[in-house]
Amino acid sequence: MAEETALTGWRLENSYKSLPNAFYTEMQPNSAAAPEVIVFNSPLAAALGLDEQMLQGDLAAEILAGARFPEGAEPVAEAYAGHQFGHFTMLGDGRAILLGERIDPSGKRYDIHLKGSGRTRYSRGGDGRAALGPMLREYIISEAMHGLKIPTTRSLAVTATGDHVARETALPGAVLARVAASHLRVGTFEYAARFCEKEELKALADYAIKRHDPELEADSEKYLSFLKKMIERQASLIAKWQLAGFIHGVMNTDNMAISGETIDYGPCAFMDSYDPETVFSSIDVQGRYAYGNQPAIGGWNLARFAETLLPLLHDSQEEAVEIAQAVITEYPKLYRQNWLDGMREKLGLFKEEKEDEKLIEDLLRLMYQNKADYTNTFSALAKGIHEEALSKDPEYAKWQERWRERLKKQEESDEQVTALLKKSNPAIIPRNHRVEEALEAAGKGDYEVMNRLLAVLRDPYAYSAEQEGYAKLPDTPDEPYRTYCGT
Ligand code: AMP
Ligand code: MG
Repeated sequence: MAEETALTGWRLENSYKSLPNAFYTEMQPNSAAAPEVIVFNSPLAAALGLDEQMLQGDLAAEILAGARFPEGAEPVAEAYAGHQFGHFTMLGDGRAILLGERIDPSGKRYDIHLKGSGRTRYSRGGDGRAALGPMLREYIISEAMHGLKIPTTRSLAVTATGDHVARETALPGAVLARVAASHLRVGTFEYAARFCEKEELKALADYAIKRHDPELEADSEKYLSFLKKMIERQASLIAKWQLAGFIHGVMNTDNMAISGETIDYGPCAFMDSYDPETVFSSIDVQGRYAYGNQPAIGGWNLARFAETLLPLLHDSQEEAVEIAQAVITEYPKLYRQNWLDGMREKLGLFKEEKEDEKLIEDLLRLMYQNKADYTNTFSALAKGIHEEALSKDPEYAKWQERWRERLKKQEESDEQVTALLKKSNPAIIPRNHRVEEALEAAGKGDYEVMNRLLAVLRDPYAYSAEQEGYAKLPDTPDEPYRTYCGT
């Protein structure tokens, strides 16, 4: 029974295929020697209205590994381009396919995407495969981001293929089943603007609007409004990253989703001690995508996005540029407002006062000078304690006094302030050493460490006793942490 529904129960749609042919290549299943589901996201399956039973047998594992397609699926690899570290390149799904789209019980459409499922037309020199470690890493971090209430693609499962992939050494291969509001990227628009006809670009924009901003379909200036929406979404998203201390690591334009979800977890990581220059990615040698640069890079990427829409904004290129520029200049202000609003909440402040910006900047400066842990500085405020490194600085004691004075100015009770602090400051983040520890155990076939980590990350605002241990810093906090992508 379960075997049968594994094929029929997905009920996938293929709206992406309504786009012109230039946007995709149809796919056949790839092989997988011995598919085995390693980790499966039951709450997400339930949210998608998928029957968990149906996703448990061998057939389901074959499907999740991309080795067999369910009924009604017409999988494709998506075409896209992008600016990688500032340089334009043709890209595309080189190691992923869109299996199809699932409509959840509330009527929302989600892509079911398989990453690491084999070569496609866009693979260039790559093998189209992924190693188990990086796919589990994406699973952990994306689900942690969801727990942190940051818009993100999600992870339904990681399935080992039973094959080995050749990296520096031979590693176990795996496929990540990724769930996203769509996989349309800034890079999809760059591809259309560079390689397609205007009609095809228009078809893409209309499709994106229908999918993400349907209320704009009747708008007389819908492409301009679409650009504004995209700017709003990214200003909000990147502010959330900054507020959580998240470093994406490769903010290339192909990794910026039109939906406003965080996408493509490669060399990402969370900052420990506060330093705007923090970079983890081994390939980002110049620090282009350092923590403190992320908001500005967001603006740069949005400018590339706006350029692709010029032909739809006005017949005259000159006027189109003027129209686009006027809205792009709003981005830094929007970002700053989102960030300030979020920071105020992190300090338990309900309303805006002029002095707040200085209060915030001074705290960040003290954190920087003392190499204070970013997450723990804020969670300490919620717990009514002091972050360790800051506790020794008399300047911080003065800052605390100012903060308490500021809190007294508002009508809200201490309980309300504490509730806001706990809601706005996570007790835990996926700390780098904890993620590594989970991956190391998983590499040896022990998935318990990872499952426990996933469980505590489900609600990082719980302030539970179990989370205390996960908030601790590594024994050697200053060891440089390096992350890798494309593996
Ligand atoms: P990413 O660094 O994951 O954003 O990927 C950038 C581009 O490289 C995308 O077009 C990917 O599909 C492609 N890519 C990454 N890894 C592989 C691989 N192992 N085989 C083929 N293409 C890959
Ligand atoms: Mg990418």
